[in-house]
Amino acid sequence: MPDAAAPVIEIRNLHKSYGTLEVLKGVDIAAPAGHVVAMIGSSGSGKSTLLRCCNLLEDSQQGDVVFCGEPVKWRGHGMGRHPADRAQVVRIRTNLSMVFQSFNLWSHMTVLQNIMEAPVTVLRRDPREVEEKARAYLAKVGIADKADAWPAQLSGGQQQRAAIARALCMEPKALLFDEPTSALDPELEQEVIRVIKALAQEGRTMIIVTHDMKLAADVAHHVVFLHKGKIEEQGPPEQIFGNPRSERLRGFLSASQ
Ligand code: ADP
Ligand code: MG
Repeated sequence: MPDAAAPVIEIRNLHKSYGTLEVLKGVDIAAPAGHVVAMIGSSGSGKSTLLRCCNLLEDSQQGDVVFCGEPVKWRGHGMGRHPADRAQVVRIRTNLSMVFQSFNLWSHMTVLQNIMEAPVTVLRRDPREVEEKARAYLAKVGIADKADAWPAQLSGGQQQRAAIARALCMEPKALLFDEPTSALDPELEQEVIRVIKALAQEGRTMIIVTHDMKLAADVAHHVVFLHKGKIEEQGPPEQIFGNPRSERLRGFLSASQ
């Protein structure tokens, strides 16, 4: 049974390889309800892989993935390990909505259709209720007037806000962001950052992979610095940005200025 006091998502001692390339070398991360965790680190350090392991978009070879206190059940072990319970995978995936760097809206659907698709087809919710919610989430991200537009008619910032509305419309327990502002011009970045900050203020549970140290410092309760598949340092933003202990973190931060 789900445990309300347990973190929404927790990863323990996770090991993940692609063939012979070991990408995650025993990583722990937890997102307690109402908390924002920021993940920072150089390109190739394993941030996207870790995020994808949280919602089981990637298999892993060792360690635990625990959703609301419920450990993922595996079949087999090592390289042959896969989730054993399909219903559990769907439950976890629909409760951890992902927002990607490249928006990933379906180009053949309007904005409204994009948002309604998964709640109606995967969660089997009533389309009229979903439409009402979808429009409310579009208003929340500031693009209520774009419901009937095609993704190609939107700016990058509007597309990303539509993708956030789509994630919200699943009414997930946590949102996972993978570099949500990296593909945007600086002026469009800000409109997405405003939305993310508003979500943080509402107490939403989020894991945000970002290259934007200011965003991480502003919204995160906890910051994790990943280096070559291991957590090199973690702590509150005041420590990570104000008083970093690790030499590697200091080097990374001065290079990210
Ligand atoms: P980050 O998001 O921190 O930039 P990634 O998690 O994308 O890092 O990648 C970590 C490492 O795993 C990199 O060396 C990358 O080349 C490798 N990698 C990522 N995805 C795959 C894949 N599907 N197959 C093989 N190697 C991969
Ligand atoms: Mg990445």
